[in-house]
Amino acid sequence: MRQRESRWQGRGCRIRKNKQWKKTSLGIIIIVMCVTAFLSGRALAESIDNQRIAVKTNQTVVTSGQINLAQTTETESTDGWNLILVNKTHPVKENYPVKLVQLKNGQAIDERAYPALQAMMDDARATGLSPYICSSYRTNEKQTTLYNNQVNKYRKQGYSEADAAAEAGKWVAVPGTSEHQIGLAVDIVAKSYQVLDKKQERTAEQRWLMENCHKYGFILRYPSEKSEITGIGYEPWHYRYVGKEAAAAIMKEDKCLEEYLDEISSNIAGGI
Ligand SMILES: [Zn+2]
Repeated sequence: MRQRESRWQGRGCRIRKNKQWKKTSLGIIIIVMCVTAFLSGRALAESIDNQRIAVKTNQTVVTSGQINLAQTTETESTDGWNLILVNKTHPVKENYPVKLVQLKNGQAIDERAYPALQAMMDDARATGLSPYICSSYRTNEKQTTLYNNQVNKYRKQGYSEADAAAEAGKWVAVPGTSEHQIGLAVDIVAKSYQVLDKKQERTAEQRWLMENCHKYGFILRYPSEKSEITGIGYEPWHYRYVGKEAAAAIMKEDKCLEEYLDEISSNIAGGI
C-alpha cells in the first residue's frame, strides 16, 4: 500500500509538477505577449509623434490653436533667435534655417512666431478690425525681384543707376539684408486700405497694432524717427517678432531694435 501510495503520490506529484510547469509556461507566454504589445505600442506611439513633428515642420496650412503658445515663450530666449539682427550691416547668414508655417492666404512665418501672430490677428479681429497680412517670409529670389523692381521704378523716373539703387534701398532692403528672409517679419495692412504709404498709420488697424503689438512680442520695426539708425524709411505696416520682453522695452521706450540690442549688449559687457 505504502509503495502504491507512494507511487500514486509520485505520479500525483508529477502531474502537479506538469500542471505547474504548464501554468508557469502560460504565465511566461502572457508576460512575453504583454511586453511585446507594450513595446510595439510604444513604437507606434513614437512613430505617430514623429509623423506629427514631420507634418508640423513641413505643414502647408495650420489653423490657430494647433501650436501651443507656451512653446513660443519657452523657446523665446534660449538661443536668441528672436533677437537676431538683420540690416544693411548684418546680412542674413547663408543657409539660415527657417522652419515655416504657411498661413491660409499663402503667406508664411517662422513656426516659433506663428502662435503669437495668430493670437494678435485673432484679437484684432475680435475688436471688429480687419488686418491683412500682405507680405511675410521671402526667399532671396523674391527679395531680389522686389528690389530690382524698385530700382527700375526710380530708373524710369530719371535717377542714375547709383541713385536709383540708393533710393530703392530705403524702401526695399537689398537682397540678403531683409528680415523678411528670416521669417520673423510681416507687413500688415488694413483690408480697407492696402497701400504701403504713410497714410497706413491713420487706419484703425495700424493704431490698434501699434498700441498692442508688444503684448504679442511684435514691434513696429521701422518707426519714422529712427530711419537714420535702421537705414529704412518709415514703414507703418512692417512688424517684427522679437518676443514679449524685448517688444515691451522697445515699444514703451520708443526705441528701435538696433538701440535695444546696443543697450543690452553694453549691459552684458558692463556686468549688469
Ligand atoms: Zn516689410
